[in-house]
Amino acid sequence: MAEIPTSARVVIIGGGVVGASSLYHLAKKGWTDCVLLEKNELTAGSTWHAAGNVPTFSTSWAIMNMQRYSTELYSRLGDEVDYPMNYHQTGSIRLAHSKERMQEFQRACAMGRYQGIGMEMLTPEEAQARYPFLETHDLEGALFDPSDGDIDPAQVTQALAKGARDMGAKI
Ligand SMILES: Cc1cc2nc3c(=O)[nH]c(=O)nc-3n(C[C@H](O)[C@H](O)[C@H](O)COP(=O)(O)OP(=O)(O)OC[C@H]3O[C@@H](n4cnc5c(N)ncnc54)[C@H](O)[C@@H]3O)c2cc1C
Repeated sequence: MAEIPTSARVVIIGGGVVGASSLYHLAKKGWTDCVLLEKNELTAGSTWHAAGNVPTFSTSWAIMNMQRYSTELYSRLGDEVDYPMNYHQTGSIRLAHSKERMQEFQRACAMGRYQGIGMEMLTPEEAQARYPFLETHDLEGALFDPSDGDIDPAQVTQALAKGARDMGAKI
């Protein structure tokens, strides 16, 4: 086990993706005298079970903004910290079966476009053109999100941990 420092500017408890990300971002801002304590091993908690979906859709500006930031970070993180990882941006189509759901999508789409995410509203026919197996008879429309994707949760945690360690943080 690594020797535990006697003092640290910040102590983070828990080495899941959130703890590793916090340590990495503190180090990026110059707070390298920080420590992460993990009682088991990195990714031992919920992070191990996550499916790894990385959406940007949200009706909250702040949450969408954090998710957008994550997609940008994940696109460059492997190269930045020299830890290859599986991250795929596949895009997604969300289906609306009511006018109210369409309004919700329109609002999210407007926020997304303002944040630089190339979201698009689709008619049922346009959605079917992108995914031919779609049944459209009960659809009002759809939202296309090109940045939606998936990542390996353990790999991204290890990559963040490596990046933090390389900058001087302790785990
Ligand atoms: C089945 C499933 C599917 C999911 N799918 C997705 C998905 O597709 N996309 C998505 O974004 N999210 C998904 N999630 C949610 C995601 O997994 C969690 O939001 C995320 O992993 C939480 O990370 P965390 O670092 O906060 O917690 P955790 O990963 O649980 O990490 C907490 C860590 O703290 C350690 N710990 C606890 N107590 C102490 C202590 N006293 N001292 C030291 N260490 C301690 C634990 O050992 C653990 O390693 C899913 C979750 C589950 C369960």
